[in-house]
Amino acid sequence: MKDLSPHALAIRPSPTLALNAQLKARAEAGERVLNLCVGEPDFPMPALAARMAIQAIEDGESRYTDVAGTLALRERIRRKLREENDLDYRTDQIIASTGAKQALYNAFFVLCGEGDEVVVPAPYWVTYPEQVRAVGATPVIATAGRDSEYKLTPALLERHVTPRTKAVVLNNPGNPTGTTYTRGELEAIAEVVLRHDLYVVEDLIYEHFHYGEGKVESIAALGTPLRDRTIVINGVSKSCGMTGWRVGYSAAPARISALMKRLQSQSTSNVTAVAQRAAIGAMDDVPWTALAAYRERSESAYQQLTAIEGVDCPPPTGAFYLFPDISRFLGDGGPATSDEFCTQLLEHTGVGIVPGTAFGSPGNVRISYAAAPGVVAEGLELLQKFVVSL
Ligand code: PMP
Repeated sequence: MKDLSPHALAIRPSPTLALNAQLKARAEAGERVLNLCVGEPDFPMPALAARMAIQAIEDGESRYTDVAGTLALRERIRRKLREENDLDYRTDQIIASTGAKQALYNAFFVLCGEGDEVVVPAPYWVTYPEQVRAVGATPVIATAGRDSEYKLTPALLERHVTPRTKAVVLNNPGNPTGTTYTRGELEAIAEVVLRHDLYVVEDLIYEHFHYGEGKVESIAALGTPLRDRTIVINGVSKSCGMTGWRVGYSAAPARISALMKRLQSQSTSNVTAVAQRAAIGAMDDVPWTALAAYRERSESAYQQLTAIEGVDCPPPTGAFYLFPDISRFLGDGGPATSDEFCTQLLEHTGVGIVPGTAFGSPGNVRISYAAAPGVVAEGLELLQKFVVSL
């Protein structure tokens, strides 16, 4: 038989989703599992979002909507971007998509193709390089170190730009790093972006999980030249505990949004009408109290983790992950790699964490503190015992 598409064959499966499925299977088989791999918060969706969804069903909202989402949803997103991010977009520049994931895919598809390069800072969220490959372009991995808290720096970006570079990905706050770019850092990166005429795909999905000073800044808000080359990605999945509803969105220059909408019109069309109403409710009823509790969670998880001798981790300033360097415990008869470290930890203690190899950073592991606080505390205690036993 003829070979399948090289673009499709180049895509690797999501290691985090595979690991979660494995942990679920173990739990279902009766094993005690402490799942610290989770990529979603544990609080319930906002009550208003649920009520609005029920109302939408009762109102008979079962038809196609505009491909980019109802005007009501796009008006609400527009207001959010203006009030929280100092970003002024028209509603025709905003597209609701099936999760931030589809918004990202639309963005990469429209920006680049065969022969183009996209700079993806590592440690990266697993999906970026795969989506770049899926559209036929090449991800160029720029590995950031501990001294920049695993964040892209202007010098690092500069070193990875070639005449073929089309765009750079910025994830703020970062998954898996748990760290956040300051305005000053964004300004310095922006200078390189402008000089090399790059686009920016800016993923702000963890924006509301922020433990630093002030708010999370968007590079698009640094001025018109930046806004004209940035695709802002966000959604209600993480901040409103609504990962299953699949509502994300993009805001971009009109020319780019028009093409993203055209692509979506030929792939999935609109986000489920009922989910769109739920998203409006969610944005009117953001669970600020539950979100604020994550600051305290991040602090106690960080204290407990860094009390383990030999573990080095940047202080968490965003998202809900800790990304410690565990390379000290590798080799010398112990686990040889972070994959082995995580497999052995799971076998011996039932604690599930993600090896850094999944994120292009083999000396680290990712620990999520979005699980119930008791589970996180016990998981970290077992991690400590495991490390001492090595
Ligand atoms: N961006 C990042 C950095 C993420 O971690 C995730 C979810 N793991 C997404 C986007 C996807 O969000 P959604 O569920 O809205 O597609």
